[in-house]
Amino acid sequence: MEQLEYPREQALIGGDWVTTQATLDIETPSYGKVITRIARSQAAEVDSAVKAAKLAFAGGIGDWSSWTARRRGEWLMAFAAAIEADCDRLAGLECIDTGKPMTQARGDISACARYFRFYGGAADKLHGETIPFENDFAVMTLREPYGVCAQIIPWNYPAQIFGRCVAAALAAGNTVVLKPAEDACLSVLRLAELAVTQGLPPGVLNVVPGLGSEAGAALSRHPDVDHLSFTGSPETGTLVTQAAAEHHVPVTMELGGKSPQLVFADADLDAALPFLVRGIIQNAGQTCSAGSRLLVQREIADQVLERLAERFTALRCDVGEADADCGPLINARQKAKLEARLEAAARDGIRTLAKGSLAESELASGYFVVPRLLTDIPAGHDVLQEELFGPILAVQVFEDEAEALAQANATDFGLCAGIWTRDGGRQLRLAKGIRSGQVFINNYGAAGGIELPFGGVGRSGHGREKGFEGLRSYTRIKTVALHHG
Ligand code: NAD
Repeated sequence: MEQLEYPREQALIGGDWVTTQATLDIETPSYGKVITRIARSQAAEVDSAVKAAKLAFAGGIGDWSSWTARRRGEWLMAFAAAIEADCDRLAGLECIDTGKPMTQARGDISACARYFRFYGGAADKLHGETIPFENDFAVMTLREPYGVCAQIIPWNYPAQIFGRCVAAALAAGNTVVLKPAEDACLSVLRLAELAVTQGLPPGVLNVVPGLGSEAGAALSRHPDVDHLSFTGSPETGTLVTQAAAEHHVPVTMELGGKSPQLVFADADLDAALPFLVRGIIQNAGQTCSAGSRLLVQREIADQVLERLAERFTALRCDVGEADADCGPLINARQKAKLEARLEAAARDGIRTLAKGSLAESELASGYFVVPRLLTDIPAGHDVLQEELFGPILAVQVFEDEAEALAQANATDFGLCAGIWTRDGGRQLRLAKGIRSGQVFINNYGAAGGIELPFGGVGRSGHGREKGFEGLRSYTRIKTVALHHG
């Protein structure tokens, strides 16, 4: 890690690396120390980036507008190979920047490459339709790229979300202005360097690092943006939606979650238990799709809690490069916020049934909160409603299927749900009844499948990314009706 070479402290605009007037410090959450700096883009830089993307889309710079879908696909696949070849450095940056364990960081880089390969293969398979109409008409739909896609992404999975948004937008023929998160964006900057080296025409991908209140706000209200994709908190999502609405820009919102895993008495517990733990400790619980609520049927509750407590007690937190079960939270603010919530929960009588431990070596300055299993939670309590964004699993007990469904749907979020039961009828009834974008039956997360559409309902957002659906969402339909007489 000490030999890690950091990417440039600049913004990528129109194919040039541009030095901004000010910079921002980047800390590693494992040690709470500043390790490097990034550009602090302002409205002027954002404006230049949007203009460059607009020009590149229109054929005014570079030759992107003349690239066929097949050529775009070939470039994306070659880029996937370049990402894989650079995996050590990219994963090292992701690990030091976010604090996540090295194995998870490697998995994230591999997923990023897979997005480029998947959308590379899909680029020339996206097509419109012909529609039967009056006999003297020929009617077709054309799937066209929007133009300039603005993408504002968070710090928890920088490389994966870069892959998810950028690969789909470029495959469909758009150009991109991306605002990475100020808390973690080193892998994104390295990916942008690689894209330039791999011959992506100037202006096709622009990256404007900086603060949300400056670069993010300027991008979301820019009149020349044609589509906006935002991944982050529901509160910021509201601000971004309001800004985009000024110019009637369509938005995709990937927001938070408070996802339940439902465990019935007939479940295969040996299969379920690892997913119940992994679902909440992955990325230290800082995952929108984290399974942060466990709903367990009364007759097996004692047994499940005993077995889970054993597993939670064995969990170890350590710095990212130590590759333990859990890394730190992203920053001091998130740690303080979570600790305050845990203290309030304890005052309300909520019990910590089990918790993990912290490795002993020089960790005092890192932003660690050990995993916890919470029980005895009053119905409707905050810890069952609000995204804690930490490795905290909140347990509720239910009597029957009807109560399980009511508990599962008792939040404003609707991102994911896991159902553990052998009863086929119940699997389908619950899959239909649960209000969420994804339902996983006898698994959780479907191994992160990039081929599967992903998105939320309610406070978890709207629109879909990932899979073929995600590619379609970076296009709009034009109807052509030809009267041939
Ligand atoms: P955040 O909303 O604070 O920040 C997300 C991005 O928005 C960052 O790039 C930030 O700089 C930018 N931003 C902040 N203020 C802005 C403003 N006024 N205008 C424009 N941009 C602004 O969220 P976060 O704390 O970085 O991320 C955590 C949240 O993201 C959680 O709620 C999590 O569940 C959610 N998330 C969702 C998904 C998903 O796919 N559904 C994936 C990852 C994270």
